[in-house]
Formats: sequence, structure tokens, C-alpha cells
Amino acid sequence: MGDDLTRRSAADLAGLLAAGEVTSVELTQAHLDRIAAVDGAVHAYLHVSPDEALATARVVDARRTAGDELHPLAGVPIAVKDVVVTEGMPTTAGSKILEGWVPPYDATLVTRIKAAGMPILGKTNMDEFAMGSSTEHSAYGNTHNPWDLDRIPGGSGGGSAAAVGAFEAPLAIGTDTGGSIRQPAAVTGTVGVKPTYGSVSRYGLIALASSLDQAGPVTRTVLDAALLHEVIGGHDPRDATSLPEALPPLVAAARQGLTGDLSGVRVGVVTELSGDGYQPGVRASFEAALDVLRGAGAQISEVSCPHFGHALAAYYLILPSEASSNLAKFDGMRYGLRVLPQDGPATAERVMAATRGAGFGDEVKRRIILGTYALSAGYYDAYYGSAQKVRTLIQRDFAAAFEQVDVLVSPTAPTTAFKLGEKLDDPLAMYLNDVATIPANLAGVPGLSVPSGLSDDGLPVGFQVLAPARADDRLYRVGAALETLLEASWGAPLLSRAPELSGSTTEGSAR
Ligand code: GLN
Repeated sequence: MGDDLTRRSAADLAGLLAAGEVTSVELTQAHLDRIAAVDGAVHAYLHVSPDEALATARVVDARRTAGDELHPLAGVPIAVKDVVVTEGMPTTAGSKILEGWVPPYDATLVTRIKAAGMPILGKTNMDEFAMGSSTEHSAYGNTHNPWDLDRIPGGSGGGSAAAVGAFEAPLAIGTDTGGSIRQPAAVTGTVGVKPTYGSVSRYGLIALASSLDQAGPVTRTVLDAALLHEVIGGHDPRDATSLPEALPPLVAAARQGLTGDLSGVRVGVVTELSGDGYQPGVRASFEAALDVLRGAGAQISEVSCPHFGHALAAYYLILPSEASSNLAKFDGMRYGLRVLPQDGPATAERVMAATRGAGFGDEVKRRIILGTYALSAGYYDAYYGSAQKVRTLIQRDFAAAFEQVDVLVSPTAPTTAFKLGEKLDDPLAMYLNDVATIPANLAGVPGLSVPSGLSDDGLPVGFQVLAPARADDRLYRVGAALETLLEASWGAPLLSRAPELSGSTTEGSAR
């Protein structure tokens, strides 16, 4: 039963709990057992919290027995990316500089997860401060892709995607600044959603780039993502950019999609996000998925977004600029690590320099240097200012495209999961992984990645759906339709084709 429970969707688990066929303690324990069995090989988690998770499970079980009215996901466990602050539970953002820091408060989305009665299994690995596409920039060792342990799980939220993909959690939270929910989902055969900017509170997320960051669901089914999105979303007075109004119903949209009917839905294939630079097996999977959408009644056309070609360049000016400012607070005085200078007086400035020198990894330093340069007096207009203009042009491309179609689609990532180490010494090659996901962050629009199948190399491919701001419901309708029709043709969920894992297949990674 234990192993079986970890294979179920969150929606199924919620049903079993409601019917009294399983307790939250049983299914939380089943996931903790699975973590104990395989996380030595996968290393999805930086911190596992069995006591807290089981305590929550016991409370929910008691309330259910007492006949209390519970949230539909009450008792279903979840993993949280380590960039989200959790009261009393270590939070490192994958960085040495926060080693040992235990936050005194919860992020709003964590408060909502707790209010729903969902046990938190632990915190997941990630690239340091969410900078990266492979989770190799974590200061705490690599996470391994459950499909092939020698490959990357995507990034920055590789831990959340691998945890869900390896059945170590039915649900997880990710954050997406340029693709860190969607690209890991794509390369692990899971589902990831970046909500409309401002629809999920950023209060308590350790900021990377505040105008781009958005937290969202990482799951194995589109319906589960909608269920989780409704738990964490909604207005929050503690986030100045939080949208005042609620999104349209998301779970209902996912259920509508599960009928497999997309009659009349206009789907635009973004010209600039296919073709050269995309692995042939990724393109083939994408084309096959388009045929499935066509068969479901969708009207497919091609739509040009002429400025998308500049998105990556604009992003790598805007992101480092905001990051350099956001990371200034890690100074050895307030949080986590403090390093005293080797010699000479320990003045505040010298302690800060020693702490930041030892506490930040290379990628973080690279971006702080880039960002401070782009913002410096003589270059501000030339770099940061120009990038902001490009951002406006990209927003206009989206606005024009959404006059013609209801959703836009593309492959989520240009390649399947690459080998660990393959791109680590080539930052530009690493940056290219997000070529298809970054435009959505620059414009604040929502995006979803759903598996479209396997490439000819036997690895999963993600299909991206983008919608206008506040129309996240469209992602769920189209995503659920594609998922259900593809699974019907495969005869089973894609993840059932992933190899079986055991804890002893690789040497344990650094913990
Ligand atoms: N890979 C992108 C980057 O390195 C995206 C990061 C993210 O979404 N957090 O910036």
C-alpha cells in the first residue's frame, strides 16, 4: 500500500482521505518512507521534516474523525522549494550564506498551505538564489533527474521537480523568475505552472528579481496543479504587487479540459520559439502534440512575436540588476553565515567582504557584478534602460498575439535533460535553456508546462502553454485536454515509464 500511495495524484489522495480509506498519517509516512528509500540517489531534499509533517497529519486526521469541515487537500503532503521561508524550518535558498538560518515567520503561501492542513515534508534543493537551469549551482550538491541519475533535473527548482517525479511528494512548490518551474517540469516529465505575476503572494519568497518572481505549483497532473494553485493564490495585503481581484476558477477549467474537447479554442504557435536551436526530438514531440490539439477541435495557427528574440538579452540585464540590489542584504550582519577576515581588523566592511566572498558561489557573484555594472551611473540608460524598453516591446507582442489567439504554445525547453556537468562551465549555454520561458516572466503572463512525451533519446519533453495575464484558467483547460488525450494514447501517465529507483544505485551526493 505504501508504495502505491506515493504513485497517486493529489486529487486521488484527497478522495481516499475524504472516503476514510486512508489517513493522512499513513500517506505522509508512505512519502517519508519513499524519501528514505530513494533520496540518497536523487537528492531532491535539503531538509526533511518528518516530525512536523506527521504532527500536522495527526491534527488533520483527528479533525476529520471529529467531523470538522476540511479543505479538499487537507492531509495531502507537499514539498517546498528552499527559497520560500518557513517558520522554524531551515531555509537556505541553496546558498552557503544562509546556512543555519531558521526563519522567524512563514511566507504567505506557506501560511495558506498550513491553513489547508497540508503536511510539509521538507525543503527542496535549488540553484543558489534560484540562479540556474540545472540545480548544479546549489551549494549543497547536485539533484539527479529521476529518469537518468547522470542527468540534470532542470533548475533552478530541480529539487521540487525531482521530488514529484520520483514520487517523493505528490505536490511541490516552485518559483519561476525565468523558467525555474516550467523547465524543470519539462525535463522531468512533470507539470509546472508559473501563475500570472501578482496572483500568488511573493511575501516570504527570498527575492531574486522582484519584478519577475512568481511562485507556483509543481505536480504530476494538470488538475493537481489547479488544486494547488487555488490553495496558494489570492490577494495578499503584505505584497504590494499582489493583484486585488481573484483569478477565474482554475479547478473547474482543468475539469473542463479533462473532457478532451477544445472546440473553438484558438491556439497560436509562436514562430520565434521553434525551429533552429530546438533538439529534433523535442520538435517532433511538439508537432505530435499539436496534432492532438487539432484532433480535439482546437484551431491552430502560427503567430509571430518579433521581439521574443531579444528576451534573453533583456532578461540578463534586468534580472542581474534587480538581483544585485536584492542580494545586498546578505552582509554577514543580519542572517546566516558570518566570516571574519583572515588578517587585519574586523571592520564592518571587511566582515561583509569576507562573508560575501565565502558565502556566495560563482554564478551569484557573476550576476551581482553584471547587475551593479548595468545599474552604474554611466551605463544605466544604455543597459538597464534599453532592456526595459525591450520588455515593453515583448509585452506588446503578447498583447497583439492574444488579439488573434486564446493561448500561445511552444516547446518548454530547447533540449531534454543534459548530462550533469555538461554546461556548468559555459554560462551562456546554461542561459539558453530558458529561451522559451523568459518572455512570459518579462510580460507577467502565466505559463504551464505539461509532458508531451519522450524524445528519441528516451527523455521527457515539455509542452508550454501561455495565456494572457489573469487568464490562467485557459492554461488549465488546454493543458488538461492535452494531458488526458496523450495519456489515452500512451495507455498510462508518462512517468510510469521512468525507470524504477532504488537508494543504492549511485553513490550518495553531497548533503
Ligand atoms: N534559469 C533562469 C536563470 O538562471 C531562471 C531562473 C528562475 O526562474 N529562477 O535566471
